[in-house]
Amino acid sequence: MNLVNRTKRQIFEPGDIIMRQGAVGDNAYLIEDGQVEIFVTVNGQEQILGRRGIGAIVGEMAIVDNKLRTANVRAIAPSTLLAISREDFGRRLAHADPVMKMVMQVILARYRAVLHGTDAALESAEEAEKAGNVSQKAFETIRMTHDFREAILGYQLRLHYQPIIEMVTNKVLGFEALMRWHHPVKGMVSPATFIPLAEDSGLIVHASRWALREGVYMLNRLRVEHGLSEDYFISLNFTGLDLSAEDFADNVSESLQGTGVSPSRIKLEITERMLIDDPEGAISTLNRCRDAGLTVALDDFGTGYSSLSYLHRFPIDTMKIDRSFIVEMVTNPASLTLVKAIISLAKGLGMTVVAEGVENETEAEILRTNNCDMVQGYLFARPMAEPDLVLWLNNRD
Ligand code: C2E
Ligand code: CA
Ligand code: CA
Repeated sequence: MNLVNRTKRQIFEPGDIIMRQGAVGDNAYLIEDGQVEIFVTVNGQEQILGRRGIGAIVGEMAIVDNKLRTANVRAIAPSTLLAISREDFGRRLAHADPVMKMVMQVILARYRAVLHGTDAALESAEEAEKAGNVSQKAFETIRMTHDFREAILGYQLRLHYQPIIEMVTNKVLGFEALMRWHHPVKGMVSPATFIPLAEDSGLIVHASRWALREGVYMLNRLRVEHGLSEDYFISLNFTGLDLSAEDFADNVSESLQGTGVSPSRIKLEITERMLIDDPEGAISTLNRCRDAGLTVALDDFGTGYSSLSYLHRFPIDTMKIDRSFIVEMVTNPASLTLVKAIISLAKGLGMTVVAEGVENETEAEILRTNNCDMVQGYLFARPMAEPDLVLWLNNRD
């Protein structure tokens, strides 16, 4: 299937308008020869957006959706353009490899989202789905990503808080903040579903910033509204994308300013994956965070990418042993050996240790005997909404 056979070749002279802002567009154009200028007209004034030359494509959005042209294109040299119609594009896409097809649709939808807001992205995905150009799964991903953006703006996100308890004193030291999404139609959506979507779309950065502010306000409310005087810490989950933002450390500090919450009460939960993906970036960001007084916890320790050689290079205060080890240590002596080794490794490096997902007394007892500092799990409390947390804390006293 040769591109030229299925497309129309058109010739334009300098000054010829190839497409007009506001017009209906049925074709994209591949510039085979010559040069064109893209411009918009604002209050009667022409504003040049850029030039495109041989090999470039212009007007491609028209073949993704049925929207009107958003700019004018004019030839500025004798130009030969190949017109690619929407039908032709759709036909090619329909015959493309399914993975290719999905990637293409997602890229195009995002491109639209960047330029025109996400409703257009969703509409184009809906059209693509109707035309059979996009798989149900890809469509669902686009829809949920669209919905998640609304969730951030529309107060559909909540934090639940799971207490973290000191073993020797049985005191609550702090809470892990876990995000919840109450979808208007689907109800509760699990973070296992929406966090990956939020990461892929970059929306996680907004969600994390919201969570940080919300968590800080909650700490304040515990004292001011609920009369709880303890200086609890809050542990918040961050992704590699959050950490790689240039202003990550500054943003955290800014979020605390004027709130009366000391940085030492904020723990950043990060994963090994993030340390391995960009070690130098992570070291410098985490050092800035530590300089600002924040503490860092290494989450899900022992799953996946553990490399002992890097551990001491990072400013980590707390190690969280993944639940999978805790579940297994009761029945599997090898897992118990690992848990003991992780505790002594962490302590040898001057870190405190949290065991995650502690569900029964047997597990708690083993951890106590092996000097684990803190525990978190259903045995003590599930993640709770703020009012339930307050009740739970008051009942404990
Ligand atoms: P995680 O950071 O490892 O969080 C601990 C998860 O274990 C939570 O699941 C918690 O509800 C669950 N859990 C706690 N104790 C027990 C227990 O005793 N037994 C069992 N079976 N589970 C227990 P959740 O809230 O569904 O969150 C799942 C994951 O989603 C989190 O794993 C974290 O990776 C991610 N996540 C949640 N909230 C956020 C967030 O605000 N930001 C980011 N980036 N990720 C988040
Ligand atoms: Ca966590
Ligand atoms: Ca974890």
